[in-house]
Amino acid sequence: MTVKKKETVLKGIPAAPGVVTGKAFLYGREQYTISRRNIREDQIQNEIKRFKEALLQTKNEIVDIKKRISEELGVEHGQIFSAHLLVIDDTMLTEEVVAKLKKEKLAVEYIFQDVLRRYIKVFSEMDDEYLKERISDINDVGRRILKNLIGAKEDILSNLKEKVIVIAYDLSPSDTATMHKKNVKGFATDIGGRTSHTAIMAKSLEIPAVVGLEVLTKKVETGDTVIIDGNHGIVIISPSPRTLKRYEEEREKFIAFEKHLLEQKGLPCVTLDGRKIELASNIEVPEDVPSVLAHGAEGIGLYRTEYFFMNRKDLPTEEEQFRAYSSVAKKIKPHAVIVRTLDIGGDKFLSQLDVPQQMNPFLGWRAIRFCLARPDIFKAQMRAILRASAHGKIRMMYPMISGLAELQQANALLEDAKKELKKEGLPFDENMEVGAMIEVPSAAVTSDILAREADFFSIGTNDLIQYSLAVDRVNEKIAYLYEPAHPAVLRLIKSVIENGHKAGIWVGMCGEMAGDISMTAILLGLGLDEFSTSPIAAPEIKRIIRALTMTQARAIAEEAMTLLTGKDVQAFASRKLKEIVPDMADEIE
Ligand code: PEP
Ligand code: MG
Repeated sequence: MTVKKKETVLKGIPAAPGVVTGKAFLYGREQYTISRRNIREDQIQNEIKRFKEALLQTKNEIVDIKKRISEELGVEHGQIFSAHLLVIDDTMLTEEVVAKLKKEKLAVEYIFQDVLRRYIKVFSEMDDEYLKERISDINDVGRRILKNLIGAKEDILSNLKEKVIVIAYDLSPSDTATMHKKNVKGFATDIGGRTSHTAIMAKSLEIPAVVGLEVLTKKVETGDTVIIDGNHGIVIISPSPRTLKRYEEEREKFIAFEKHLLEQKGLPCVTLDGRKIELASNIEVPEDVPSVLAHGAEGIGLYRTEYFFMNRKDLPTEEEQFRAYSSVAKKIKPHAVIVRTLDIGGDKFLSQLDVPQQMNPFLGWRAIRFCLARPDIFKAQMRAILRASAHGKIRMMYPMISGLAELQQANALLEDAKKELKKEGLPFDENMEVGAMIEVPSAAVTSDILAREADFFSIGTNDLIQYSLAVDRVNEKIAYLYEPAHPAVLRLIKSVIENGHKAGIWVGMCGEMAGDISMTAILLGLGLDEFSTSPIAAPEIKRIIRALTMTQARAIAEEAMTLLTGKDVQAFASRKLKEIVPDMADEIE
């Protein structure tokens, strides 16, 4: 007899709005859970055969990757996989597995996992740095062998057979990129923060999501009924009929509210006293474009190109990139698309690139730092962006600029790319605007200097907040310190806008703060020229901008700048929001 579970309410961090009810699917745990299974004497040979087949399959996969990487990136990069092949060819490892299998009579995947763990332990205790570095090779190859042994599919999320709510300890941005909106109704995770790329992806998929629930995966089992309330960051496990009814009403109310906002999507984004504000959207993949248009944004203020590089075995060619960027540009015409050059690192990884594990990935080899070290990849992307600029209005921007030298180096490479294209007779927009993201405090502080070499700025508050307040944007434990309204953040933003305007360039914002309705009046009052938000946030932001005069907004910003703490600013901003758009503030509460 199954015992009915008690209703459990968990509070986390709202990641993407909306309310949904459905069956839970626990992702991540099932993948490589290997049970200890006894085998009979007469099954031993078959287990050995399975093991050899898995080794061969893994070897073929690696040879394949090595070949492709060598062709596309050069032989030296392909060599990385030679180390992987050495692990497979290590007879000591295979002999040990076979001997143990015969002796202990347990399923080969169990034995293999056991031997693998022991190898890793022994290597990690060695003094030899070279051998220590081999741990990641052993790990990678071991995972692959295990996957092939148990026939696990790595793309579980794209192959779900029914509509579910995905529950996981964590989801990487590449996991979320493989999710199919058709079968994923919503998701919730133990860890993560409001501006993690996983949360941002949920908004772009337009599915309700809650992150940072800490103990969620310990409480939920696959098949449990769960409610995700992405507006308030709540997850309810095994809700009572009464709760289910209440949330159904809540869901209907929210849908009606969204519909009402959408009815105004065709209205211009101007303040009551006639100042035109650019309202753009952020996209992750070209498939997001219809949503941008459906929500009434007038262009794309941030196209995160790294998703195009994810979940594939090779790197996209210049030609493929050109096709993707130009297709977006054509669909958004006559409005502009700001294509951001590759921003990998931090919480976004590419399996096909050999980027070593880093102690502090957000402070490490990321974004422009990676691109400047890999001009082959960077230049191919810039060539593709430039070529696409002949097919629509394209602007380009660099992520994570920390000072003038990086901006100059990147621009020098861009000039090389332009020269090459001219020589080859390939068309591009010679006046394509090139901007810098301002998301590192040093860039904000020296924005007067950077403005000399940039056509525009786009403030990346997701990173600017984490770097200026020293608060990891994906860590739920310190999420309470992640305050867009912190006076330090507001001062940095104010000075970036002022410095940009002094130099005669426009200043936009593409971090999540641009879509935070409580901050709109302050940002408008500080003089922000462009707001780029997730498509679903665009109607709300437009509604607020249309309800304010610049005089009101400036007064609100001025008062906010006199307050002493983030909490005070937040409370003040929420109060003002209620005055500006009372119905909307009620709905969001
Ligand atoms: C930001 O940091 O605010 C930003 C827009 O870039 P990303 O979220 O991709 O780091
Ligand atoms: Mg960023």
